[in-house]
Amino acid sequence: MYQRKEWDEICIDDLEVYAHHGVYPEEKEKGQNFYVNMILYTDTRAAGQRDELTLSTHYGEVCHLVTKWMQEHTYDLIETVAETAAEQVLLHYPLVQAVDVEIRKPQAPIGLPFGNVSVKIRRGWHRVYIALGSNMGDRKKYLQAGVDAMKRRADIRLQKVSSWRQTAPYGGVEQADFLNGVMEVQTLLTPRELLDYLHEIEQEADRKREIHWGPRTLDLDILLYDDLVMESEELTIPHVDMQNRDFVLGPMAEIAGWVRHPLLGLTMGQLYARLMSAK
Ligand code: ADP
Ligand code: MG
Repeated sequence: MYQRKEWDEICIDDLEVYAHHGVYPEEKEKGQNFYVNMILYTDTRAAGQRDELTLSTHYGEVCHLVTKWMQEHTYDLIETVAETAAEQVLLHYPLVQAVDVEIRKPQAPIGLPFGNVSVKIRRGWHRVYIALGSNMGDRKKYLQAGVDAMKRRADIRLQKVSSWRQTAPYGGVEQADFLNGVMEVQTLLTPRELLDYLHEIEQEADRKREIHWGPRTLDLDILLYDDLVMESEELTIPHVDMQNRDFVLGPMAEIAGWVRHPLLGLTMGQLYARLMSAK
């Protein structure tokens, strides 16, 4: 969810949906009322200025979509109801950047007096930059396969691809020249889920993990994920070495020159210029 601006909100309160979610068989057979609260994070400025519905998101349609979804599916958990309903809204309404979905279940069979029980989640599109590299076989074909893999699933939307550039190998291992580039995607995936998908694509490209920094058919690295800063055993974001790699910063300057590195405070254009002048 890009942090670049304050989003406007379209709010839907207490949409009543009779549906059949629950762990108990009676709940699945008989059903009960669920109540849905949603906040759609979007930009209503243009619609508001021109009084034009096609520039905004039709909240009536959103209510019907979510009602239909909840009535045509049966889940054990309201967690799943919330998760899948949020995904439906984000997939169907391109102007919605993020959504809060709260599923209330005030008649849940708890066997004790209570007012309400609910699950509330926020989901949204994230802007991610991914580096591509190949130095084995048909390098162009492998990089293109990396790009095409982003078009295969609805929860990833390819936005931009840089030009490819040829680079001498990096990291001191004797090997063939690399072809490198970067791409911008929007995705609903978490960083960890995206990394797993990138690994799948690398595997499909016959990649063998032999020598660290050695030859590879396809290498896909996450460079930036919104303004996220995270470190774990598996994943460091922003990519730990991107500021030192001209084959990353060059393509980034090309498609995302104004994007700021969340730790270093410099834009991709500035980082590239700094690296070039240091050479
Ligand atoms: P490299 O990309 O450094 O040449 P690999 O592609 O073999 O080497 O990556 C090794 C591991 O690096 C991956 O399995 C992954 O867990 C970890 N890693 C850490 N941060 C990132 C990142 N930002 N993007 C991709 N992989 C990362
Ligand atoms: Mg890698």
